[in-house]
Amino acid sequence: MLPTWDQIQRAAYGRWESRGRVHGADQDDWVAAEMDLLFQMNYRPAAEYPLESAEPVVVGSRSQSRCRFCERGAPRAKFSSARPIVPDVVGPTSLLTGEVCDECHEQFAGSLDADFAKFWRSLDEPSEGPQAVSIGAYKALVRMAIAIMPARELGHFADTLEWVGNPDHDFDSSLFSGAGCLVYRMHQAHAVPWVSLSRRIDADAPLPYAVFVLVAGVHAVEIAPPLCARDQDHDEEALQLPPRSFTTGFGADSRTAVRRLLPLERVDRPRRRGMRLFA
Ligand SMILES: [Zn+2]
Repeated sequence: MLPTWDQIQRAAYGRWESRGRVHGADQDDWVAAEMDLLFQMNYRPAAEYPLESAEPVVVGSRSQSRCRFCERGAPRAKFSSARPIVPDVVGPTSLLTGEVCDECHEQFAGSLDADFAKFWRSLDEPSEGPQAVSIGAYKALVRMAIAIMPARELGHFADTLEWVGNPDHDFDSSLFSGAGCLVYRMHQAHAVPWVSLSRRIDADAPLPYAVFVLVAGVHAVEIAPPLCARDQDHDEEALQLPPRSFTTGFGADSRTAVRRLLPLERVDRPRRRGMRLFA
């Protein structure tokens, strides 16, 4: 579903009016209105949480512990404590999950989350920033999306879960053509860091079924969890991440965030050691 010219014009006009009719951002108002309308017309929030709150928030069940990633329950798997959903490189967080076992948590912390920390820090580098997203950092974002996902949606992501839990980053690149993440740099920092997962409402729209976003400070990172069963009817190439403005249009916050689409880093598989012995 695409917004009409009239709808965009009304929304852009609304932004300008609510800002006190200050001129100079017409182009931003139009672009922001178009992007945000497209998103609002095609997605509904499935889960949304601030990263900081007075009391810890535990997503999912705490009592009947079952790991979302390896699907083992207690006592086969150990669950010592609820674990942070977003790595601490983003900042302090009180958003936790009780549905990750000790073993999966350790594995993610040492690999995916470490890759994500590198990626997140690189967003602040004075240079142009990263040119691609590493598979590990991308998987870490997918892990976060799975962690906040309502349980009823998990069935659509069986292949995704298996892929995230697999420590081998090898994959069939044909299944991931066009995959990557949108990184945004806002002109004003968001007061409260947050994560959200949105779900497509129109099955025929050529958009990914689920979209996850992490927003903290001036950065936002958006991905569509890959290998979703609900996306298989669509031509993979056609599923574009829907961009957003990340502005309110109020006061000085009128300029749309600068965004870049980062492709997945290509990994050329090193030849197996030992092969040469027989060459
Ligand atoms: Zn596990």
